Amino acid sequence: MLRLQNIQTYYGNIQALKDVTIDIEEGEIVTLIGANGAGKTTTLMSICGITPPRKGEIAFKGSRIHHLKPESIVQLGICQVPEGRRIFPGMTVVENLEMGAFLRNDKAGIKSDLDMVFDLFPILDQRRSQLGGTLSGGEQQMLAISRALMARPRLLLLDEPSLGLAPLIIQQIFEIIKKINKESGTTIFLVEQNANQALKLAHRGYVMENGRITLVDKASVLLENDEVKKAYLGL
Ligand code: ATP
Repeated sequence: MLRLQNIQTYYGNIQALKDVTIDIEEGEIVTLIGANGAGKTTTLMSICGITPPRKGEIAFKGSRIHHLKPESIVQLGICQVPEGRRIFPGMTVVENLEMGAFLRNDKAGIKSDLDMVFDLFPILDQRRSQLGGTLSGGEQQMLAISRALMARPRLLLLDEPSLGLAPLIIQQIFEIIKKINKESGTTIFLVEQNANQALKLAHRGYVMENGRITLVDKASVLLENDEVKKAYLGL
């Protein structure tokens, strides 16, 4: 579904991604794990067209997308939930969700998707009229994921959804990510520092170090890999 082939992304003269190759098949949950500053967020930003690669190729369903503007990439069905959630604090829950559907004009579809996200996250249903900025961290993460779902993505990119959340909430969020993948067939690319949880959830995983992919395998195999255990699982 998505193929990154030898991409190289720079910030000015600093090379953040060095020949990164990643393949994601339709229907998969794929995770990208790595330490702080490894280049995980840059990988997502490269896919979304915010920091396009200087070299290499990105293809979505067989068509090259690395020269497209971010809004055109969203229109193809690739949607990102950025790190730090970035919901609209002065808008209500419902208004935030409506913003997620701004490229759509199928009113009935939007209404049924609103019902779908309230089914997934009943707590948001209870908080429909509450301002986004007054929600707890976990609720804001739920809102950020729901807002992305309102765009009906085929590929959902999640940047560290567990960041700064309590273990119980992380578990809840990861369960729902699994449900989204299973029930709607949405393909998921999950960037995480929480390697243990991410590898338990994903089908396959990539490990990134200093802008390079150093390992790729089934998630269950990576969980048993000695290097991964030592560097990322604290074992
Ligand atoms: P984290 O888990 O902390 O978000 P990460 O793996 O997502 O880390 P990136 O944020 O992609 O890593 O950063 C990769 C490299 O690019 C780092 O060396 C970082 O300092 C650098 N970098 C990131 N954003 C910029 C920027 N806007 N300008 C210059 N350098 C940047």
